[in-house]
Amino acid sequence: METATTATASSNVAKAAETLRAVFLPFPSTSHTIRVVDTARVFAMYGVDITIITTPGNAKIFQSSIDHDAARGRPIRTHLISFPEVLGLPQGLETFSAHTPPHLVNLVAQGVSLLQEPIKQLFRELNPDFIVSDMFFTWSADAAAELGIPRLVYLGGSFIAMSARLSVEQFSPHTKVESDSEPFLLPGLPHELKMTRLQLPIHAREHNDFTDIMKAVKESEMKSYGSLFNSFSEFEGAYEEHYKKTTGTKSWGVGPVSLWVNQDESDKGVRGSASEEREPEGWLTWLDSKTEDSVLYVSFGSMTKLSTSQLVEIAHALDDFGHGFIWVVGKFEENGENEGENGFLKEFENRVVAENRGYLIRGWAPQLLILEHPAIGGVVTHCGWNTTLESVIAGLPMATMPLFAEQFYNEKLLVDVLGVGVSIGVKKWRNWNVVGDEIVKRENIVKAISLLMGGGEEALEMRRRVRELSDAAKKTIQPGGSSYNKVKGLFDELKALKLQKLNHK
Ligand code: UDP
Repeated sequence: METATTATASSNVAKAAETLRAVFLPFPSTSHTIRVVDTARVFAMYGVDITIITTPGNAKIFQSSIDHDAARGRPIRTHLISFPEVLGLPQGLETFSAHTPPHLVNLVAQGVSLLQEPIKQLFRELNPDFIVSDMFFTWSADAAAELGIPRLVYLGGSFIAMSARLSVEQFSPHTKVESDSEPFLLPGLPHELKMTRLQLPIHAREHNDFTDIMKAVKESEMKSYGSLFNSFSEFEGAYEEHYKKTTGTKSWGVGPVSLWVNQDESDKGVRGSASEEREPEGWLTWLDSKTEDSVLYVSFGSMTKLSTSQLVEIAHALDDFGHGFIWVVGKFEENGENEGENGFLKEFENRVVAENRGYLIRGWAPQLLILEHPAIGGVVTHCGWNTTLESVIAGLPMATMPLFAEQFYNEKLLVDVLGVGVSIGVKKWRNWNVVGDEIVKRENIVKAISLLMGGGEEALEMRRRVRELSDAAKKTIQPGGSSYNKVKGLFDELKALKLQKLNHK
């Protein structure tokens, strides 16, 4: 009798361990949030019960995707907590983006740090089997440990960037050159990659507040069960292996997550934006009138501010280039410092629209839809990791114009490792919320985009290689593909941990 009861109990335990419940905690900046949310949606696709914790201001950019998934019967929901009141911070300003006024960035950060206690309380109430949290929520490693559950840290960006960062930390190659512009080798990496001191993030060159933040990120990663990356083996597998070997940590490249979950037009059209910010659909009719691979897509992501002088250089470059383009330019007045020059940009816009040569997007571009349109033939990108992956998925070669964060390392992957990009030749890293003092000249931009969009041998080769990667991206998320297997393997591991815990109880 006793044996029968024990057997039933253990079968109940085994059954309970089969269902995983997770809490996801995205960091409130668009690009960090969307990759964590897309990953949560991948997990929910395979039956993991997901609660995403965030504040109302940040939820706006992804709630419609969650509603779609819930309507599809997937076990996923958002749990809202209110953003703390911070003296001097206008109500509703809860996220970091190109629209966050630089003088308020620290106040937003203050508000985000005040979320710690309410979120910890929620962790206790929701009682998940594991937590996936953005790298900047360093405290969540300890919070998970207190609950006796694994925390997976979502490391932003690429394996190559994290590997390069480690190389700089470990070998300080930038201290062994004579000048800021002398190239040095990043030691110990799978390929020979060269950078200059000016292209390294300032916090890597000299000690500042962000150096401490990155140190805390590293320490909290070491306390975590493992890390997740939005990446895939066929794209940067050598760096995935290198990263795991160098850090001795567990890590999974589970991407590309946006391709995995945003397969319907309804998903692609709303991704990453609140409804009031979305660009109306004129771009589609415009693109439909263009021939295959003839249009250049120009975008610098969700965080970038460019000076008016830089906008003017880009406009001249697009003029000299002479072919079709879509430029996600944002609202001029939010970009530039020098309002006086906006006259030029207005005139430029009127002219290219009249000539039916260009289309300027002022609102939030439905980037996934635009990139997959057959008329798009190439991308000018700042090498933000999401856009990098999205361009690769769409099979589009890139002209690279890195600006901040880990973007200079991503450029190395595209140009030097994979040969799917051509560098515009940016020389200087800068912070995300400043316009920077380097003005990239129109000649450099024209040279790169003409090569990219021309029919020369080099361009054709790039196109061929990126299309191979695009095919690989589509396969990696199918049953038997490497990202698919990694996700399934991770679930098995987490279920085994849960079972162990339940048996222990
Ligand atoms: N994005 C978009 N429409 C826009 C601007 C950006 O859909 O008008 C999306 C883009 O598809 C990408 C993300 O926002 O997924 C930007 O992330 P990325 O890592 O490329 O750059 P960041 O915003 O971090 O600079």
